[in-house]
Amino acid sequence: MPSPCTSARDAALSVLRRLRSHGHTAYLAGGCVRDALLGLTPKDYDVATDATPDRVQSLFSQTAAVGAAFGVVLVYVPKPGRGRHTIEVATFRAEGAYTDGRRPDEVRFTTAEEDAKRRDFTVNGLFADPPPEDAPADTPDTIIDFVGGQADLAAGVLRAIGEPVERFGEDYLRMLRAVRFAARFGFEIEPRTAAAIREHAPKLDHIARERIGDEVRRMLMGKNPSHAVRLLNDLGLDDVIFRDTAQEVSIEALDRLSGEADYATRLTVWMKSRTPGCSPSQIRDSLALSNNEYQSYSETALLTYELISWEGDNDAARKRIASRPRWSQAMLKWEAEQEEPTRLERIKADVVALENDGIGLAPVPLVTGDDLIAMGLKPGPDFKTILDQAYDAQLEGRVTTKQEALDYARDHAS
Ligand code: ATP
Ligand code: MG
Repeated sequence: MPSPCTSARDAALSVLRRLRSHGHTAYLAGGCVRDALLGLTPKDYDVATDATPDRVQSLFSQTAAVGAAFGVVLVYVPKPGRGRHTIEVATFRAEGAYTDGRRPDEVRFTTAEEDAKRRDFTVNGLFADPPPEDAPADTPDTIIDFVGGQADLAAGVLRAIGEPVERFGEDYLRMLRAVRFAARFGFEIEPRTAAAIREHAPKLDHIARERIGDEVRRMLMGKNPSHAVRLLNDLGLDDVIFRDTAQEVSIEALDRLSGEADYATRLTVWMKSRTPGCSPSQIRDSLALSNNEYQSYSETALLTYELISWEGDNDAARKRIASRPRWSQAMLKWEAEQEEPTRLERIKADVVALENDGIGLAPVPLVTGDDLIAMGLKPGPDFKTILDQAYDAQLEGRVTTKQEALDYARDHAS
């Protein structure tokens, strides 16, 4: 049982040390090396080693062989107190031919260099060799770079490892990964890499919509969604994702969108900026949205139409609109779109006034269906109308007590 580790990096180092003390080569690999060199905190730590999956499982007591066929074993390292870190330990591997554009037909265990070369982008192909335990605390990791990843990281370039046309032909999802990483780090996509993506773009259609949707979700929720949207359009991927040709995409509104905006809201802003836009069901099917996301998307988009009549609406109607669950997200959308900024400011002021009118936007209803039944009314289609009218009266302060509200309902029932 490994001893408990506070940080994820220490947990990964404890795994490395154990592998090394048993004669193996082991490095930190991939995203964690890239992130650390960029001065970012890695989300998780991956280890690459020459130990086979069987060997890794025999050296650690808590493991899960999630992808043993691909050489991947999860090693669990306890945290102090409760919980555990999960370190992905992968055997150096090379991949055989890809015949379906999705996954290799076979894998073979091999050297660190070949393992670096099967990875997707140079900045993702780095290894780090941490200093021994007794080295001074600030000793940096030694970087092992078989692919020119350090130079590309320093220059802000996203470049496919090896021959780009081949690499995207092996796995079409890499085209979306390229956009995601370029957007996240504000990198340029190297010209031959970009040309290869344009060439293969139509084949993205062979990838499962769930996987496309996952990548798009991560891009839109990442730091530079507008950069991602611009790249998707420039590279011809947008047309394949939505199965229709975008004539124009502007990214200004996405640029202005608040970080508080959720995925559904980001999608509505994107679609508003795209000509032609796509229908909600087209978005749902293209990106395999969850039911929740789809509902949120539709409601956020629809609230724009509800707002059209605002100036002519009475207080009750305004309160009903402003207390809809998607109101604050829709507000972020309108703020980003800046279509009628002064009108939006007025609407916001109206809502603040309504919130503070002593009644509020969405008070608990004074009359309920049970009250109507107690009055001797029979449940039926009129029920909702009566309740709506009574609630409107309450929202506008025409009734203020339970008794007034019951009287009001009784009057309107007859
Ligand atoms: P993130 O922080 O988004 O997780 P990451 O670099 O860790 O970034 P992962 O998807 O977790 O990305 O993959 C880990 C590593 O595995 C990558 O850095 C890359 O070296 C390699 N890799 C992942 N997916 C692919 C792929 N489709 N083709 C080639 N190599 C890949
Ligand atoms: Mg990762």
